[in-house]
Amino acid sequence: VAQTEANLPNVKDKADDSDDEAPENQAEASLLAKIIRKGLVANKNDIEVQRQDPKSPLYSVKTFEALNLKPNLLKGVYEMGFNAPSKIQEMALPTLLADPCQNLIAQAQSGTGKTAAFVLAMLSRVVPDKHYPQVLCLSPTYELAIQTGEVAANMAKFCPEIEMRFAVRGEMLPRGTKIAEHIVIGTPGKVLDWTKQKHLDLKKITVFVLDEADVMIDQQGHQDQCIRIHKDLSASCQMLFFSATYSQEVMDFAEHIVKNPIVIRLRREEESLDNIGQYYFKCSTADEKYNALTNIYGTLSIGQAIIFCRTKKMAEWLSQKMSNDGHAVAILSGDLTVEQRINVLDRFREGKEKVLITTNVLSRGIDVEQVTIVVNFDLPVNVEGKADCETYLHRIGRTGRFGKKGLAINLVDSDSSMKILRDIEEHFGRKIQYLNADDCDEIE
Ligand code: ADP
Repeated sequence: VAQTEANLPNVKDKADDSDDEAPENQAEASLLAKIIRKGLVANKNDIEVQRQDPKSPLYSVKTFEALNLKPNLLKGVYEMGFNAPSKIQEMALPTLLADPCQNLIAQAQSGTGKTAAFVLAMLSRVVPDKHYPQVLCLSPTYELAIQTGEVAANMAKFCPEIEMRFAVRGEMLPRGTKIAEHIVIGTPGKVLDWTKQKHLDLKKITVFVLDEADVMIDQQGHQDQCIRIHKDLSASCQMLFFSATYSQEVMDFAEHIVKNPIVIRLRREEESLDNIGQYYFKCSTADEKYNALTNIYGTLSIGQAIIFCRTKKMAEWLSQKMSNDGHAVAILSGDLTVEQRINVLDRFREGKEKVLITTNVLSRGIDVEQVTIVVNFDLPVNVEGKADCETYLHRIGRTGRFGKKGLAINLVDSDSSMKILRDIEEHFGRKIQYLNADDCDEIE
């Protein structure tokens, strides 16, 4: 105990915010969301469609058969476990595969099936006998490009004639080489490099996909590079533009790149605190918080838990203490590389650890179905130290997709954190019930 005591961060020390964890950047958030979520996100909202000519017919499909795909491609789709198109795919796929081709802007949150949709379009548009790049897909980062490539490789499992190449950091081509693969998936910088060196001819591209466009414009220089690449594409090239968000900036960018598009949009389903039992404990030290936590954990037969701490130091201290007490704990902090985070999240999803301790690096994307309890070891605050209600909702709120009840436990350690709790309560108009630290039986 003495040893952990020495490392114990002062829970009330607001002066030292230096190791507060900033939320991850958008590209990382997007990657992690992809990795932690292995299936489709349910969304009850209706698809909204806008198009230039409202009289032109709109098609949607309820089955993959209705798309007249090459048999081996259809086989690949089924092999991935896709039985029917997702909501966004029902509407997007006929447009993506239309002949003559049709430009598309699609906006829907992560996990709705956008990637699978455009990958299917990319694969089905390839003419295998022509040995040069026909499809170009731009992703904002190395990791996101690799993810897309993996989806494409999976889906093309029974189409060995279709070849792909990554245009990402680390990939080299000898001077004078012409790329022979049909599909190029890469980051804007590398693709621009390769086109300047004439490794590929943009004029021959028939399908251009700009993925994660909102993340793209978040990164300095990417937007310009995309625009420069876009300039050299032929006028008949099909332009496809995907984004998880829908800000004016994204739409301006989209309109620049995609002429006469069909725009489809699926609004994010609102998270809510319905079906979440919210409780709080009063504690005065980190050790008391720890005791409250182990009481909860000992009493409840819970699936998995996510615990949020304000600082890395606190997360490390807690993880050490729980491990010493024999709990299987995983820790996710900003120090980890993306590969390490993927590893941590994969293990957690598989249930290898029952508890995940994290800082702000994971606020959205915690909707792992088996997580039944979310603990705010520290309440979420913004830079001014005020209640961060939005983050609170992301951490513990759920969309309508889970019937199961969730549980949120807040550990209050000072007058100021009590005030934060009250502000959160007031903001959402929902009571957070007081619990005696020794009495967890009242929790339902
Ligand atoms: P997005 O690009 O919108 O984030 P993805 O295409 O990556 O969405 O799909 C999210 C998850 O759902 C992936 O795990 C993917 O394999 C799966 N998925 C996509 N389409 C379907 C479908 N039609 N049926 C079942 N699962 C699907």
